[in-house]
Amino acid sequence: MEARPLRLLILGAHPDDAEYHAGGLATIYRESGHVVKMVSVSDGAAGHHALGPGPLAAIRRAEADAAAAVIGATAEVWEYPDGALLPTLALRGRIVREIRSFGPDLVLTHRVYDYHPDHRAVGQAVQDASYLVTVPLVEPEVPALRRDPVVAYLPDAFTRPYPLAGDVVVDVTDRLDTVVRMLACHRCQVFEWLPWLAGVLDQVPRGEIERLAWLRGWYSSIVRPRAERYRQELVATYGEKRGHEIAYTEVFEISQYASPLDDAARKRLFYFLP
Ligand SMILES: [Zn+2]
Repeated sequence: MEARPLRLLILGAHPDDAEYHAGGLATIYRESGHVVKMVSVSDGAAGHHALGPGPLAAIRRAEADAAAAVIGATAEVWEYPDGALLPTLALRGRIVREIRSFGPDLVLTHRVYDYHPDHRAVGQAVQDASYLVTVPLVEPEVPALRRDPVVAYLPDAFTRPYPLAGDVVVDVTDRLDTVVRMLACHRCQVFEWLPWLAGVLDQVPRGEIERLAWLRGWYSSIVRPRAERYRQELVATYGEKRGHEIAYTEVFEISQYASPLDDAARKRLFYFLP
């Protein structure tokens, strides 16, 4: 491991997006002593069927902190309104300043092809910020970076206009339980709002252990198909034997609008790959 810890910045739209989409990679980074910061651009205050926005925002902030604490990461919940994000100049500027001041080696965010307008807005704002972080006269109060970080897109399953490219595939099978423990901290989401949305609120068990098992089943059923979808990439990365055995993977597409993932960057940022 190099002397300076790597710095991973995950810019998601909602307080549970970072864990949901990249909790495995975040766990691997923390296991190696690297620095992980998970930002929610929105306050999460639209995500409930029974709670009002004021109490909900406070709950979601506390839940984000608890989830980050599972792996020793930091969480930050910004104040932009949930369900109403736009890729404004103000948001772009905030992201430029965030990337400059945090100094990430790797930034993860949503693609602009996504079902959720908030995800698209954050993806667009990060895409727009990616080059501008090196331009000193943009947001001049925070010194510009000399080099872009590598920016990559979080996994999703959308196929139009094109599916996410499996530029980097990570075996997260052994981290699934940790990701589930992080997600379980977002109680008002995974045990209340999301089951309510899906019409299965009555199926959520009451006991803590049973709930965790239920959540594991729900989350793993969503992410399991990804390993088949990216089996070719998994085999190319991990070899015939392990590549075929991997059950859970996180997949990242490298943005063309920031630093390229050349061989040196791949070895540095994804040092744990064979
Ligand atoms: Zn989200």
